[in-house]
Amino acid sequence: MRLPDTKIPPGVGSVLVVDLDAIAHNFRHIQSLAPTAEVGVSIKADAYGLGAATIAPALAAIGCQTFFAATAAEGAALRPAIPDTEIVILNGPDAVSTPLIIEHRLTPVINSLAQLDMWRTAAAGKPQTNAVYLHVDTGMSRLGLGEAEVSLLCTDTARLDGIDVSVVMSHLACADDPSSPMNARQRERLLAAAANLSALTGPTRTSLANSAGVFLGPDFHLDIVRAGASIYGLNVLNQKLSLMRQVIHLYAKILQVREVDKPATVGYGATHRIARPSRIATLATGYADGYLRAAGRLTDHDTRPLATTFIDDAAAPVVGRVSMDLLTVDVSGVPAAAAQPGAFVELIGDHFSADDLADVAGTIGYEVLTRLGQRHRRIYRSGDSD
Ligand SMILES: *Cc1c(COP(=O)(O)O)cnc(C)c1O
Repeated sequence: MRLPDTKIPPGVGSVLVVDLDAIAHNFRHIQSLAPTAEVGVSIKADAYGLGAATIAPALAAIGCQTFFAATAAEGAALRPAIPDTEIVILNGPDAVSTPLIIEHRLTPVINSLAQLDMWRTAAAGKPQTNAVYLHVDTGMSRLGLGEAEVSLLCTDTARLDGIDVSVVMSHLACADDPSSPMNARQRERLLAAAANLSALTGPTRTSLANSAGVFLGPDFHLDIVRAGASIYGLNVLNQKLSLMRQVIHLYAKILQVREVDKPATVGYGATHRIARPSRIATLATGYADGYLRAAGRLTDHDTRPLATTFIDDAAAPVVGRVSMDLLTVDVSGVPAAAAQPGAFVELIGDHFSADDLADVAGTIGYEVLTRLGQRHRRIYRSGDSD
C-alpha cells in the first residue's frame, strides 16, 4: 500500500498508518471463530503501541464491551473514551491503586489472597464497586492464585464476603503450540478450580484464551476470550496465510540517496561492504523509533536474512547497522525516479510485516508493535477517511 495521500506535517520523518477497518475486521473474525463466547480485547500498553485512546472507542462502537488493561492507570486514562464498557485491570489492585479503581469503575483481577484481602477492605461499604475477576494460576507461575491458595479460599469462605466474582480466569502458557499437552491440562485445572469455588461464588463465567487460545478450538473459548495480538493483525500461529488483516503500515522518509561506484562500507562498525555499484538511501527512522537494532547487520560475517523495505513493489534490503535515528537501505533494485529524497519507504506493511521484522530480529511481533516510537506520526484510517 502506498502512503495515503494525507497531509503529512512538515518535518515529520516517519508515518505509522493504523487501519481501524482492519482492526474491526479482525475483531469480527475472532468473534466468528468463537461464536458462543464474548470477545474482550486487550488494550494494554496503549493497545500494543497503536493508540488505545483511538482504538478502544472504535472497538466499543462495533460492540466490544470488555477491555483488558495491565495497570489501573491505563484503565483510568481510558475510562472517559469508553464510558460504558467494562475495563478489567489484569495486574489487579494494590494499596495505592484501589481508590483509582473504584473512582473509575474499573474491574480488578484478583491475583492472590493478599489482593483479595486488600480489595475486600477497600471495597467494603462501597456498593458501586464492580464485580471482580478471580485469576487462578494453572501453569504460568506469574500472576494468579496457586493451587494451595485456591484450597485455602475454599475453606476460609469469609474472605469472599461481599465480593461478587463474575469471572474465574487463567492464562495459557503454550497456546501458540496446539500440540502442547499444557493446553488441556491448564483448561482442566481452571475448570476444576471454578467448580470448587462455585460453592462460594455461585455460578461464574470462565475465561482462558488469548488470541492463540482462540485457535485451539471451541473447548478453549469458554465464556469470554481475551484477544490482543490478533486484533492488531499479528499472525500468532505463524500460519503461511495469516487469517488476520494487516493493521499497520510504517513509512519512513528518504533523507538522502548516495550513488556508490567504488568499494565502500555502510554504517557503524562498517558491517556492510559495497562491492558493486549501488545506490544507498538513508531513511529517517532508527532504533529510537522501535526499528529494532537487532534487525540490522551486527557484524560483517552476520549471515541472518536481511530485513527488507519496499518502495511500491520493489524491495530495498536494510544494509549495515540500524542507527538511533537512521536506517540505510540498498535501493539499487528500485527505479531511480521512485527512490528520491522526500519519498516514503514502507518499513512494515503488506510486503514485510511486523512478524517478519520480528523474525529477522529474533523476537516476536508483539515486541515490534509495542516498541513503535512516539516520533512516528500516527494516522488512523477508516471507511472514507482516505
Ligand atoms: C496480554 C494478555 C492477553 C492477550 O494476549 P494476546 O496474545 O495478545 O491475544 C490475554 N490475557 C492476558 C492475561 C494477557 O496478559
